[in-house]
Amino acid sequence: MAGDGTVFAEFTLICRLSGTGSSRQPESDRTMKIIDLSMTLQPHWRWNIQTKLAMDHKKNDPFQVTVLTLPMHAFTHVDTPLHIEPGKITIDRVPLDRLCGPAAVVDLSACGANTPITAQDLEQKGGHITEGDIVILKTAWDRKRDWLTKEYWLDAPYVQEDAAEWLARRPIKAVGFDFPQDFAIREIPARHPPATEMPTHHLLLRKGIFLIEYLCNVDQIGPDRATVYALPLKVKQSEGAPARVIAVID
Ligand SMILES: [Zn+2]
Repeated sequence: MAGDGTVFAEFTLICRLSGTGSSRQPESDRTMKIIDLSMTLQPHWRWNIQTKLAMDHKKNDPFQVTVLTLPMHAFTHVDTPLHIEPGKITIDRVPLDRLCGPAAVVDLSACGANTPITAQDLEQKGGHITEGDIVILKTAWDRKRDWLTKEYWLDAPYVQEDAAEWLARRPIKAVGFDFPQDFAIREIPARHPPATEMPTHHLLLRKGIFLIEYLCNVDQIGPDRATVYALPLKVKQSEGAPARVIAVID
């Protein structure tokens, strides 16, 4: 288990619709569940993240100010097609409706260690995917291996090429993963595999389908549909950026 204490929060949203005159009455109450799908940025063996206090209460500075150094492809983040192909869209220019909206959650949680996810798996479990969806592949891998450990990478299930082809054929906006989705990712940084060995990157990004990587807590999404919001940092000219990603269930 790797997450925070606060996996999700429940908000009661009270909609007050204005009536005539000065009286305002609550017309409806409804509960909205927000599930945080984002990893917590913290020291990590794989990613060179550094935080430094530029101003510090302990030094009697008037404010506390943290300076963060972070690769764009660390922790929960979004890849644009520019990651693999020159001249493609930068993260600061991606319309947010490409990364927010209805999502089909594909339940692959029965998938074990070092197991390929095949087109047949998606055919069986992904029948509810519709046009314009964000597709979330749910393996619950962060419940089986701690993402602070190397085993999270070395033992991970992965998307087989025919499954990436299956996804690339669909009119979807983005695909999110709660595991290191290409087998060869585990070899980085000892080896930098060519793009052709990374089928989700190779096939989906080239189709203009965005990748939402290193999600966690996806197992907390019960229904097979949710609304997902992936909001990457607006970094000028970058091919990707860390993102806060949430799922909302009505
Ligand atoms: Zn990336």
